[in-house]
Amino acid sequence: MLSEFDLIKQYFRRARPGRAVLGIGDDCALLAPTPGMQLAVSTDMLVEDRHFFAGADPRMLGHKSLAVNLSDLAAMGARPLGFTLALALPQADPAWLEGFSSGLFALADAWDCELIGGDTTKGPLNICITVFGELAPGRALRRDAARAGDDIWISGTLGDARLALAGYWKEVELDAEAHAQAAQRMHLPSPRVALGLALAKLPVAPAALDISDGLVGDLGHILAASNVGARLDVDALPAGPVLARQPLALRRRFTAAGGDDYELCFTAPALLREAVLAAGRESGTPVTRVGRIEAEPGLRLVDADGAALELGLQGWDHFAGA
Ligand code: ADP
Ligand code: MG
Repeated sequence: MLSEFDLIKQYFRRARPGRAVLGIGDDCALLAPTPGMQLAVSTDMLVEDRHFFAGADPRMLGHKSLAVNLSDLAAMGARPLGFTLALALPQADPAWLEGFSSGLFALADAWDCELIGGDTTKGPLNICITVFGELAPGRALRRDAARAGDDIWISGTLGDARLALAGYWKEVELDAEAHAQAAQRMHLPSPRVALGLALAKLPVAPAALDISDGLVGDLGHILAASNVGARLDVDALPAGPVLARQPLALRRRFTAAGGDDYELCFTAPALLREAVLAAGRESGTPVTRVGRIEAEPGLRLVDADGAALELGLQGWDHFAGA
């Protein structure tokens, strides 16, 4: 039987030298951010049967637990430095730990983000990560920075993760191949860190957030924080490749209010259109213009002809409804 300390040593403590002044093993880790930079800190928790199915593939879970946290750094325009991992496990299962840690470290290494500490306890499976990043003062992509007249942009594509969920729930009939492709988006999101870093260099820092609970609900947070409204062209929203083959009504619903997308929604003055496209190219991230910030409060959804759309959509809320 693995002891708590053997488990940490075997699966989470690595021999290689890291960026931290002091990593795993003492009461605290010590990080030395670049002088003059600000620390960006964010926490995301993944709970079994709430954020993932019981028996979920541990490698994908390792990836996703860190991906959703890196996505928050991306949405702020911060460069990842390190993270802590608080883990409750029902048992010390070597096969699970091997899969989980390999998925976790593959993504951590891709962004040079070091595991610097954590906590390990027995209990129902629960994964809580806190990420630390850095950014230059005044360069954060804050939700309160949207201004009337700004364009609204989306990275990548939306809705395939929600379509995968619909497949699991039998809300939608999907063939096995289409479902597997959509499920990749649900289980293995790619945090848009490179785009966030490129956007943070624009002459005016955009407002931004990552879309985790569905675009309509999440964009609402930017509108509320910035005290503005918006017009969103629902038919301009880029659908994921699997969703793109589905009927229009489903495409509209899942692009506008899907959830689990981990794309960035951001705003920028129309004068910066070329600069935004360049940031997309520089970071290898497709970006699409999907609407405009307006002074009048509220979110107005329109179709390709500019006619009002009433979709009755809401963002995901863990405490609302069922
Ligand atoms: P404490 O008794 O101070 O809570 P622990 O004995 O829980 O410390 O942990 C010992 C060391 O291992 C600490 O440096 C802690 O940050 C680290 N650690 C514990 N669990 C994990 C984990 N799941 N991943 C990474 N580091 C961990
Ligand atoms: Mg402890």
